[in-house]
Amino acid sequence: MRKSIAFFLFLIISGSLNSTLYYERIFLVSTDFQFPVVKIEAEKDKKPVMLIFGGIHGNEPGAYLTAEKLTALKLKKGTVIIVPRVNFYSIMKNVRGYFGDMNRKFVKGEEKKKRDPDSKIVRILKQLMSEADIFINLHDAWGFHKRYHKNFGQCIIVDAAGVYSKKFNRKIDLEKIGKEIVRKVNKQIKNPKHLFAFWNTETEKKHKEKKLEAMKFTATFYAYKVYNIPAFGVESSKNIRSDELKVKYHLLVLNELFRIFGIIPENKITPELKKPEFYYAKIFNSEGNEYIVPAKSTLWIRKGEEISVSEIVGSRKFGWASDILGWGGENDRNKKFSPIKETVVLIKHDYKRVAKFKIKPSVKIPYAIITIDGKQRKISAGERLRLKESDTIVLRSAHLNGKELTLDFKGFALKNRINRGDDRNIKIAYKELQPEFSLSKNGKIYKVEAKLKRFPEFFFIVEYDL
Ligand SMILES: [Zn+2]
Repeated sequence: MRKSIAFFLFLIISGSLNSTLYYERIFLVSTDFQFPVVKIEAEKDKKPVMLIFGGIHGNEPGAYLTAEKLTALKLKKGTVIIVPRVNFYSIMKNVRGYFGDMNRKFVKGEEKKKRDPDSKIVRILKQLMSEADIFINLHDAWGFHKRYHKNFGQCIIVDAAGVYSKKFNRKIDLEKIGKEIVRKVNKQIKNPKHLFAFWNTETEKKHKEKKLEAMKFTATFYAYKVYNIPAFGVESSKNIRSDELKVKYHLLVLNELFRIFGIIPENKITPELKKPEFYYAKIFNSEGNEYIVPAKSTLWIRKGEEISVSEIVGSRKFGWASDILGWGGENDRNKKFSPIKETVVLIKHDYKRVAKFKIKPSVKIPYAIITIDGKQRKISAGERLRLKESDTIVLRSAHLNGKELTLDFKGFALKNRINRGDDRNIKIAYKELQPEFSLSKNGKIYKVEAKLKRFPEFFFIVEYDL
């Protein structure tokens, strides 16, 4: 028998959100090919299980952004397993398939091709498939099928007219379902150019056209043929410029799929996309300490210290990668490294570079002197200071190789006073801080910067327990 995937290994990020359970696990962690999988399940009635892939092709943002949005689902009934960035390596390169077309690698034995990094991913995807009752593969494709029947854009695609599902214990009429979705979705689409169409590609038949013959190696056909589960390809159109509009169309189709298969969401997912903005990275060292590192700053560490960029916090949940310049590969998240000289870490979101910071190993770590509620203490570069809302802090001095530096509390500015970026010897109370300038944007985490002639040399973090 097939081995079942270890869902119990999923880390519970949030134990219970209004009776919905949320689990997350990163597969192939610490490699360039790491990708997260999210499982969302209703507390009691967990059936059926729908598996959704986003971004099996790296240049289809409508697909992977939709999958990311779906991770905010809360469910009254059913389970949804979402892979928000299947082919993250290709997404980082913004190409269909950096190692060839991953969606033509769903054949038996393909996963044994150890030299192809895609094969490791495909093996995990097949395992996820074996646990699902319904499978959906999201795509963006060229053109509009309704206007030109050889194009895949704005189309719901199945491989056969129907499938006998053991899991549902009945025959599922894929054609009827597909056509019903098209009818319902098209009523909600204003632009006649963007209307959806249904296409049964009859994948099992012998096809003259190479394109159709190659469908025999796709994920949906594998799900249909090997696991006998209803499988749908949902395609938005690459000719639609706006990613938000593509996401909107994908969501219209998914809402119908949820309804038809009896998955009941508790909330409505909207297509709005926030611009990817980096807030800070969490870096662990081998002693289990955690640093918070914002953009445009230098983290001082002890020479020989081993660290790894574990978490990237920003305006978006998925799509983050960290690239240690001159070391590792394209995505160095969760990889342990011990820099021997000053090193730049690049923060990427999908195929865009969004921020960078430096890591500086040193024998001597600079420090600052502060007083908290009248008590003096020393705080080292990179350290995290935990305060209560009622605490007042005074920044006294900062020292680097015998030189005195200025101290700038980011997010603090006295009213009726010009902000010169030097906040030494001023009482700072929590109520005078501006939450929008905090690193976390919610008033919890602030950066204090030590500067020499306006050049930021080091920083420490002030964290409030609210
Ligand atoms: Zn595609």
